[in-house]
Amino acid sequence: MKKWFMLSLISAALSASVFADDEPKIDWKTQQLSENVYVLFGRGGNIAVHVGDDGIYLVDDQFANLSEQIKAQIASLKPGVPEFVINTHYHGDHTGGNENFAKAGSHVIAHHHVHARLEDKHGADSDALPRLTFGNDMTLHFNNEHAHIRHYPNAHTDGDAAVFFPKADVIHFGDMFFNTGGLPYVDVEGGGSVNGLLAALKDLNSQVKESTKLIPGHGPVASKADLVRYIELIEGAKAKMLAAMAKHDSEEAVLKADPLEGMGLSYASWLPKERVTKLFYQSLSQK
Ligand SMILES: [Zn+2]
Repeated sequence: MKKWFMLSLISAALSASVFADDEPKIDWKTQQLSENVYVLFGRGGNIAVHVGDDGIYLVDDQFANLSEQIKAQIASLKPGVPEFVINTHYHGDHTGGNENFAKAGSHVIAHHHVHARLEDKHGADSDALPRLTFGNDMTLHFNNEHAHIRHYPNAHTDGDAAVFFPKADVIHFGDMFFNTGGLPYVDVEGGGSVNGLLAALKDLNSQVKESTKLIPGHGPVASKADLVRYIELIEGAKAKMLAAMAKHDSEEAVLKADPLEGMGLSYASWLPKERVTKLFYQSLSQK
């Protein structure tokens, strides 16, 4: 009996891992932030869902193999296909569902650079590409809200947008804000920079009230105080990097000096301290 039980446990674990390959098991969580705005936590970038009289629209859509689960989560708020999907930037954990949602009838909106980067990745004919693109900003007048989508140049990438919901007093930051207790991922090859990110965060902070709810790209919903701490953390890391770069004249020597040691931060396995140090070095040494 014991042996049979062990075997069935093993086979359950095996079938769970096979299942996980194409249709991952996600512990979905939904948090309501205002009458119309919800945030959906799954795997990948946090999704904002705007629900109202005109219909539904999303900010970001995680990975392709989660689209059916995302649709089911949205259906529990309001039935129907999202009219729009706004991408905060090109990374696959924020745009992976574009093709599925486009095929279902959603119109994908993103900055011009997001279109260019997704075209490089998927080809010119792909349904993963946004149908509507913008330069500095655009406004979506839908569901009795006027969502202001604003580009911030060379921050986390070269195509970041923050989405302001003035009536709801909510802002989606995309990955310009990682609320995970560590330093940001600055995608230098994707056009991101430390100084651009700091400029973006300071501009955003000037528009954030004490009452504003901040949706970060990753991590829980945040407050103005969390954002202020995040800016101070990046400023502190930048100062340490600049001091080390003044002392050592190569990337290798700066890496060896390990300037970010002693900040007491934890690092994700995909973004260890060495990689953050390298990206900060590459960004801060750009002319
Ligand atoms: Zn990202």
